[in-house]
Amino acid sequence: MIYSISELPALLDRYANEVIKPHILDWERNHHASTDIFTKAAELGLLGLETAKDKGGLGGRFTDKFMLASSLSEHSMAVPFALINSQNVAARLSMSATARHHEEIAPALRAARRVGCTALTEPGAGSDFAAIQTSATKTDGGWIISGTKAWITNAATADTIMLYAQTDPEKGWRGIASFLIDAHKPGFKRGKIYDLIGGHAIGAGEFHLNDYYAPDEDMLAPPGEAFKIAMSGINGARTYVAAMCIGMIRNALNQAILYGKERKSFGQPLLSHQGLKWSLVDVRVQLESLTLLAEKAAREIDQESPNAVLSAAMAKKLAGEITIPAITACIQSMGANGLLEEKHLGHHLACAKIAAYTDGSTEIMNDRIAASFHS
Ligand SMILES: Cc1cc2nc3c(=O)[nH]c(=O)nc-3n(C[C@H](O)[C@H](O)[C@H](O)COP(=O)(O)OP(=O)(O)OC[C@H]3O[C@@H](n4cnc5c(N)ncnc54)[C@H](O)[C@@H]3O)c2cc1C
Repeated sequence: MIYSISELPALLDRYANEVIKPHILDWERNHHASTDIFTKAAELGLLGLETAKDKGGLGGRFTDKFMLASSLSEHSMAVPFALINSQNVAARLSMSATARHHEEIAPALRAARRVGCTALTEPGAGSDFAAIQTSATKTDGGWIISGTKAWITNAATADTIMLYAQTDPEKGWRGIASFLIDAHKPGFKRGKIYDLIGGHAIGAGEFHLNDYYAPDEDMLAPPGEAFKIAMSGINGARTYVAAMCIGMIRNALNQAILYGKERKSFGQPLLSHQGLKWSLVDVRVQLESLTLLAEKAAREIDQESPNAVLSAAMAKKLAGEITIPAITACIQSMGANGLLEEKHLGHHLACAKIAAYTDGSTEIMNDRIAASFHS
């Protein structure tokens, strides 16, 4: 069945109802998500969200990815995080000049026969991405790559990896190139997969490359270009992480309002007590502020506006700062019932903390925003 991007809201509802809601608690309790998260997304076309229509995708724009991130995060931030990371690789490879990339690998990613991820972070380098140690050394017809990557989304299952490596340490960021890595080839070894409360579906973990051979055609971006491409892509990542926070706050607030209408204390619905309803008013205003800022960033990304750098950093900073207090206020308003695992508010809290690190921590957002004072 071929879907169209105009059906996206209905497709997301279907995915949430059929895939996430019935299973997310089991996945959390088992510390492991089913690969259904990819196969069912593939059936609905979601893994081709940003791949052009003439290349077999839905032809969506960044604002569509924003909708996917916020909508599915109402039920679990971890699942859209995993999906988006794989679809990003599919979209990128669908535009590759190399036939094998766009004719074989990208369709396999869209069909969930493969799972994708992007690997920058290492055990010794996170915020300071230019300090990565994974090395790429030129050899006949290709590159020999060795090193360890850590904190990589989908590391549990990914076999198609956009990986960043240093070709010449003396050149710093200018020496970094990106490569396509195939986990089925010699030299690749999957490592530890982390237990992350609320985030097991992210499948975050490590892998090791030991004299992995990448042919020249698998260099995705040469030294000098790769770092800039990673930095431009990060505006999108910061904005969809903010969208995920919007989804989690929206869900927490909706639950708190429903509960407050039904539950009574001292003869009245909880929501009629001024102190309690005002705490939720604060959450409502924070949610609106974050939504306006993050949607602005999303529109600027679609317009390829240079302003997106600043808007994305501001949206991510605001999300990193307000999401935990906002969800906490909602839990508080629901009394002990807010703590029940099936309400997912505890998972949202843990994921809100994850959101404060991924794709640049709040402190790094501060640096990014402060840089605009000098421009
Ligand atoms: C669930 C999850 C999934 C992830 N998925 C991916 C992925 O798919 N691919 C990938 O490449 N990476 C991924 N990451 C890694 C993520 O991008 C890093 O966690 C992030 O860049 C921060 O790096 P770090 O954790 O090493 O912290 P560090 O860089 O070690 O920083 C530690 C602390 O110091 C602060 N700090 C650092 N530098 C400064 C400074 N100059 N001024 C002030 N404070 C500073 C930071 O803000 C942070 O609070 C993921 C992380 C998580 C948690």
